[in-house]
Amino acid sequence: QAKEAGRNTLRFFDTEMQLRLQNRARLEADLRKALPNNELVLYYQAQVNAAGIPTGYEALLRWIHPVRGMVSPGEFIPLAEENRLIIEIGAWVLETACHQLVVWADNPATAKLTVAVNISPVQFHEPDFVERVMQILERTGASPQRLKLELTEGLLVEAQQQAREKMLRLKQTGLSFSLDDFGTGYSSLAYLTQLPLDQLKIDQYFVRHLLDDLANAVIVESTIGLAHSLGLEVIAEGVETEAQRVWLTEHHCHVFQGYLFARPLPVEAL
Ligand code: C2E
Ligand code: MG
Ligand code: MG
Ligand code: MG
Repeated sequence: QAKEAGRNTLRFFDTEMQLRLQNRARLEADLRKALPNNELVLYYQAQVNAAGIPTGYEALLRWIHPVRGMVSPGEFIPLAEENRLIIEIGAWVLETACHQLVVWADNPATAKLTVAVNISPVQFHEPDFVERVMQILERTGASPQRLKLELTEGLLVEAQQQAREKMLRLKQTGLSFSLDDFGTGYSSLAYLTQLPLDQLKIDQYFVRHLLDDLANAVIVESTIGLAHSLGLEVIAEGVETEAQRVWLTEHHCHVFQGYLFARPLPVEAL
């Protein structure tokens, strides 16, 4: 009987896995058409200063699938990285965000806004990444001083020397770098002093548990201190409550992003 149950379980997993693979294959086929079919859009989430005023926005990719509706980036970005579609998609994101900067530059009320763009490691490690960014800046006429590229720790750990060289070349254009999801990677902190970073972004996990887990609070406090000592700006992401904002302000973090201030929104809704 155990044997029978085992066989049934196996068959059950078989079917489930098959469904999952089919689903994935369909999603992947659809993703190939997403860009030509204009199904990708950028949402923008405010990054605010101590007075609660937006100084810039993070561009967050959304896929409006004709049947499934909104597909979250957590679902399709890993897929796009595996099949390398992220290289074209990422270039589109950068170009669209740069266009937005040009539109904002035209109006005195928005001219100083910055835009932060997430860069996938797959995109960053392409040999012509630096050239592509420069071409997009040139083609759109966006001011590099208003553009921030968000990188993740994992990206900087492998091939650190190469990463450093790419960053230095890009820094010469005037753009800046933010280290996203800080504290979630596995790495030594040495790279913080060796790479031309401008901002540390405290991961939302630490912010979420700020007031219910002392160890988290200690980590956030140390991170803010570390950032200040290294001359980096520090931003907290995932700020959802007033209590979190107050705690962060008291501990010298003065730039925030999170649902407390604004959700990511299509540009018309900002
Ligand atoms: P991320 O760059 O760390 O972005 C922050 C995520 O947290 C976003 O999720 C945002 O909507 C969400 N968030 C912001 N404030 C709050 C809050 O107060 N509470 C909670 N619970 N969540 C908050 P989203 O938009 O689903 O993006 C997820 C991830 O997908 C991003 O994490 C980023 O790693 C990736 N991603 C998004 N757009 C792009 C893109 O254009 N290119 C690449 N390569 N990755 C992207
Ligand atoms: Mg980000
Ligand atoms: Mg993040
Ligand atoms: Mg993240």
